[in-house]
Amino acid sequence: MHAQQVSPTAWYVQGVSELGSPANQNFISNAGFVVTPAGVVLIDALGSPALAKRLVAEIKKVTPLPITHVLVTHYHADHIYGLQVFKDMGAKIVAHRAALIYLNSDTARLRMEASREQLAPWIDENTRLLAPDAWIDADQDLLLGGVLFQARTVGPAHTPEDLAFYMPSEKVLFAGDLVFRSRIPFVGQADSRHWITALDQLLAFDAGVIVPGHGPLSKDARHDMQQTREYLVYLRTTMSRAAEAMEPFDEAYKNTDWSQFAHLPLFRLANRMNAYNTYLLMEHEAK
Ligand SMILES: [Zn+2]
Repeated sequence: MHAQQVSPTAWYVQGVSELGSPANQNFISNAGFVVTPAGVVLIDALGSPALAKRLVAEIKKVTPLPITHVLVTHYHADHIYGLQVFKDMGAKIVAHRAALIYLNSDTARLRMEASREQLAPWIDENTRLLAPDAWIDADQDLLLGGVLFQARTVGPAHTPEDLAFYMPSEKVLFAGDLVFRSRIPFVGQADSRHWITALDQLLAFDAGVIVPGHGPLSKDARHDMQQTREYLVYLRTTMSRAAEAMEPFDEAYKNTDWSQFAHLPLFRLANRMNAYNTYLLMEHEAK
């Protein structure tokens, strides 16, 4: 793990393009941080307490100031299992209220149980889910340590509680998992129609740099948002055509030309599932 500078006061650490495993300590997502005059504002908490501690060490190389806030882009395991480390250091956790759905869900409980087995010893019985200290319900401007962060409620897209944070003073956009770079997005149960709308909302910002939820930062913000957008539109177009024609999924998948995305990492792992979920979603939307 190595903190890379994004702008005069912003930094990030970049997770690997892999699935979470004991070997990578679940370091498969990014976290960003901004050094304000009053302390460090963190964006996302990484995927295990051990990683969070390594991030604290990276931050200490940059500034002696305390970590005052953690802004959570969404409650997926790889972005939140490190939260307890920062909370124990006195940081305030900020997230969208829709995270309550996840926090109270069987999905969250089962995921934690599974992670304790699959990601041992990095996730264990001491790893806990933490609710936010402050809730965001709507688009909101946050002044943290004198620095403006524009919180944008861009869900439900990747998750119901998606938030993006824009720092206009340095034109840095922390996009969470709304923007994937250099890998196939994990679409899961996402509402791709609203995800596309949300990307349009982010395209309206004059962002110079994007720190995405996964993959390297983007200095070509517009292009990368457009790429994620294109992938989602392509999934929806091809799968809705198939669903409408009542073409069975296996056939539809085989008959679809995936060549423009096939070179991206995780294509083999994620694309078929993304297509399948989109196929089901298209059937559902058609009803
Ligand atoms: Zn993620």
